[in-house]
Amino acid sequence: KVRVRFAPSPTGGLHLGGVRTALFNYLFAKKNNGTFVLRVEDTDQTRFVAGAEEYIVDCLNWCGITPDESPNNPGAYGPYRQSERKPSYRKFAEQLISDGYAYYAFDTPAELEAKRKEVPNFQYGQATRMQMRNSLTLTISEVEDLLASKTPHVIRIKVPEDEIVHFNDAIRGDVSFETSLVDDKVLLKADGMPTYHLAVVVDDKAMEISHAFRGEEWLPSAPVHILLWKYLGWETEMPQWAHLPLILKPDGHGKLSKRDGDRLGFPVYAMNWTDPKTGDLTNGFKEMGFMPEAFINMLALLGWNDGTDKELFSLDELEQAFSIERISKAGAKFDFEKAKWYNHEWIKQSPVSSLASPVKNELQKAGIEVSDDKYLATVIDLIKDRCTLLPDFVAQSSYFFASPNDYDVNSVKPKWTGEKAAFFNSFADGLSLTDAVSAETAFKALADEKGFKPGELMLPFRIMLVGGKFGPGVFDIAVLLGEEETKARITKAVA
Ligand code: GLU
Repeated sequence: KVRVRFAPSPTGGLHLGGVRTALFNYLFAKKNNGTFVLRVEDTDQTRFVAGAEEYIVDCLNWCGITPDESPNNPGAYGPYRQSERKPSYRKFAEQLISDGYAYYAFDTPAELEAKRKEVPNFQYGQATRMQMRNSLTLTISEVEDLLASKTPHVIRIKVPEDEIVHFNDAIRGDVSFETSLVDDKVLLKADGMPTYHLAVVVDDKAMEISHAFRGEEWLPSAPVHILLWKYLGWETEMPQWAHLPLILKPDGHGKLSKRDGDRLGFPVYAMNWTDPKTGDLTNGFKEMGFMPEAFINMLALLGWNDGTDKELFSLDELEQAFSIERISKAGAKFDFEKAKWYNHEWIKQSPVSSLASPVKNELQKAGIEVSDDKYLATVIDLIKDRCTLLPDFVAQSSYFFASPNDYDVNSVKPKWTGEKAAFFNSFADGLSLTDAVSAETAFKALADEKGFKPGELMLPFRIMLVGGKFGPGVFDIAVLLGEEETKARITKAVA
């Protein structure tokens, strides 16, 4: 039975790399009739941020990858927040101690600090553990006294000396680590909370997780998780790990960070995030005007493809096409221009019915109230090919809802005075706008009759209706505006 989890820590905004991890877990679950679980990893109380959990849930919903089981929609494998499993972690940590795989460490922060100063690149591990204050170096009665007097302490894993730990990663194949390079990670902190390392193993077991896609930055921790699984003596196999390639900066040099987005002017978070402490706002793809379909599509192709050059996939299509074998090992460069390209393609290919509500929303934000949905649908259909981000619909369509007050006079030289004004007045008088083709024919015939080249008049006509030198065919615009409105705009302009 396939069960996967997305296991974010509720520490702030959701980075696009996090959404991609969630997406790959989701796709793998759907492809294999499995279950997609959201587990909130909130055991680091110093990094906990109020509101971050709700925000993560909102982001996943917006993306259309709603978990099957989550803190607010639990299944049979709860709790879904790590902090709520607190009592069982200590039990497992103590079991490891009695089996000789872990130990109490009583070193104070000051002692650790002094040691770090004394020993360059200090690692608490096989080379140094016997110089420290822990249950390996103290006598049994010393340890008992320290515990009885509630002396602050942590529990550390005792990484074996000079072994090789192997595992088979679904993306990277066989990966191995020398234990001499792995430190004795803290498993249980002084506050009684587990660290990520203990919690991830206990929870994956308790929640019967079968596969786990996570970021490549977790690869160095994998040996600790493998040792813990073995030391806890569980019969079942550990989840199949799949470490996803990094998402790289646009220039390919290093991991994409939030700062790159600030510096280069693009969002890195899925949705706007306001830091509750500082009030600082970080922009998200949603508010910038991305469609969730496009965002998800773009993310899926960061490190995966279906083996052809197909780039546009709906979520349904991704669910069908997804396979671990086609995830690349190499990092994937993030390209904001490409992200916009996806959005543009999605706007073009989306039916008007699915654009209506987001576009209405954008117009509303810009102070344009839409009362006639049928009219809006026609407007959307006429201009959608010109829009890349959803707010573009405002600039591209505002003239359909209000007559322009400013004219781009630089584009019409000279303006519509004298003979030209006379032409427009008489065109307005006889105006008939049943369809764009016959309107254009009538316009050209009248121009001929008055001795103009139609080309001289088309741009002025457009500026009268639109205000600027853009938009779809001018006769399409006129037909949609209707006779009365077109006439009014001509009259207003030539007045
Ligand atoms: N809590 C970890 C994170 O924030 C989860 C890593 C994992 O999926 O195991 O990325």
